[in-house]
Amino acid sequence: MIRIRILGAGGAVPTPTHTPAAYWVTVDGVSLLMDPGPGALVRLVRCGDAAGGVDDVETVLLSHLHPDHSGDLLALLFALHSPLPTSEAPLQLFGPPGLQRLLDRLGDIYGSWLVPRKRALTVTEVRPGDCVPLGSGDGSVDGSGGATAVAFAVDHPQDRLSDMALGWRFTDAAGQVAVYSGDTGDCATLREAAAGCDLLILECSTTDEWDVPGHLNPAGAGAVCAAANPRRVVLTHQYPNAAALDLPRLLARHFAGPVEQARDDDVYLLPDPPRPSRKDPA
Ligand SMILES: [Zn+2]
Repeated sequence: MIRIRILGAGGAVPTPTHTPAAYWVTVDGVSLLMDPGPGALVRLVRCGDAAGGVDDVETVLLSHLHPDHSGDLLALLFALHSPLPTSEAPLQLFGPPGLQRLLDRLGDIYGSWLVPRKRALTVTEVRPGDCVPLGSGDGSVDGSGGATAVAFAVDHPQDRLSDMALGWRFTDAAGQVAVYSGDTGDCATLREAAAGCDLLILECSTTDEWDVPGHLNPAGAGAVCAAANPRRVVLTHQYPNAAALDLPRLLARHFAGPVEQARDDDVYLLPDPPRPSRKDPA
């Protein structure tokens, strides 16, 4: 089973319905925080998915290091420096090369304030093709037959901290696949990772009239979907100008499959929950 809570369906410029990138992903019972953009922790505890608050965050995946995808790393580490959280579980961070340098630079400024008081911190810099095991039914974490998150390269210009941006491909033990594009333009690696997937969480940052390199607009997102033919598409990372559009209608010019436009707090499930038929009693 895969469940994805869209904590933030927007980009760097927040609106009441679309705040910066953040996702609470649960694969076969293992939950992780993906792309802790600004406000991610607040939205996580408010949505009710993490009853234990920051104690429930044991794994963090990052697609890239831009602040709208990573800003709440600072908030998370500072919260875990407080004596109040009780968990002693390790905190595992996975992200592109440059993640350690980002943490080192923040440590230069904040010192011990960012050191979790009770939890060991592990930082793993990930390259395309690397696999993060998410546990399996018997509790082992060797990834054999169990759920996984596999990183793939995407096309999103980086500078200063990292020269790499990633997407993530989640597979549960039943073989269902959900793909998160991260921030990207149309590229072969995204098309390949998303080919035939069950659920594609796809960025659609901007409008067809405003083409931004390293991002998708409805025409670009439609081209990716037409090539990859995912079973279901959810559009995310909408800046205010894109969020104001009817994006599924615009994508329908390019792709015939089901497309939805995410808002903060939406939840998507694999397998899809049964939809009521007309024969069902009211
Ligand atoms: Zn970015």
